[in-house]
Amino acid sequence: MPKFNHKNVFMKTGKSALSLLTVKLFRYIYADMDKKPSLIKLHANGSLKERTQIFKKLLEKCCLCPRKCGINRLKGESGYCRSGEKAAVSSFGPHFGEEPVISGTKGSGTVFFAYCVMKCVYCQNYQISQNYRPEKQVENLSEVILKLQNAGCENLNLVSPTHYASQIIESLDECCSRGFSLPVVYNSGGYENPEIVKLLAGVVDVFMPDIKYYDDCLSIKYSDAPNYFKNAIESLVIMADQTGDFAFDDNTKALRGVLLRHLVIPGNTQDSKKILFEIKNAVSSKICLSLMSQYYPCNKASRYPEINRTLMKKEYDDVVAFSMDLGFEYVFIQDVRESPYVLRPDFGKNAPFEF
Ligand code: SF4
Repeated sequence: MPKFNHKNVFMKTGKSALSLLTVKLFRYIYADMDKKPSLIKLHANGSLKERTQIFKKLLEKCCLCPRKCGINRLKGESGYCRSGEKAAVSSFGPHFGEEPVISGTKGSGTVFFAYCVMKCVYCQNYQISQNYRPEKQVENLSEVILKLQNAGCENLNLVSPTHYASQIIESLDECCSRGFSLPVVYNSGGYENPEIVKLLAGVVDVFMPDIKYYDDCLSIKYSDAPNYFKNAIESLVIMADQTGDFAFDDNTKALRGVLLRHLVIPGNTQDSKKILFEIKNAVSSKICLSLMSQYYPCNKASRYPEINRTLMKKEYDDVVAFSMDLGFEYVFIQDVRESPYVLRPDFGKNAPFEF
């Protein structure tokens, strides 16, 4: 039995579980599979190069996210997210604060991209997603990726990659020529254009999207994201089709699959339940879930009194219990009293996290 070294607890749910915070991992999913990331094959047969060209063309009339701004990023035009022709990276390095199957023992090779396709009023990364200072930009994405591999990271973890999918694929093609071989983790806010997700087939090993809202009123109010759930759930189905069941290496490290995150927002447990219900119906209760309690009011959350507080334990436990009732088998949970305090990043520092 491996030891997990993080606040997240991975549990096998079931009505017999006595305590939500003391349950353990009861079962692993093993895969009889080629452990090499499928990206390597795409590079070897030239498909990744073709994909690079397709994506580059999309930047001429940008539709990388559901906003479909239609602007030409190759000519310096800028759309809703303000991202341009080149990827802007705020910071990068090994990260030990992800779910244990992602952080592993050597840390997840995290690239924090600047800007975002949403504007969440409570965004914990608002310093880089909404108030980004361009002078911090890292120029060469391929060098960043290879540095993370050379540092011994467990995987490449692309945080907020949606608006830079084109630049990421181009860089990965170059990295493959230079010996890149890590699993690729696509760590997004869930506001994806399903047609673009289809084009990521074989590039991404582990999709790690959020699903934040079911109700469009909430997604518009708190994230300025119309049609959020429709796009997120359609994309999730495609992600699950592309990657299959969650698979581990060495019993502990994510190799392939979907790890779906949901941040429980104060006062919105009914919305959380609708999300879980729809996920079970649209995908499966075998999907790996991460139910997060780390919400704390930051950025502009103080303008919304109803979410200007941390989550109550009974709210979080209610959502976790509902996931158990629905039969979800693989769920990461957090300590609701600790998580809002230990997981706060500060992107003003060289190392945004304190662990
Ligand atoms: S990625 Fe940015 S520019 Fe492109 S459609 Fe989305 S918001 Fe608009």
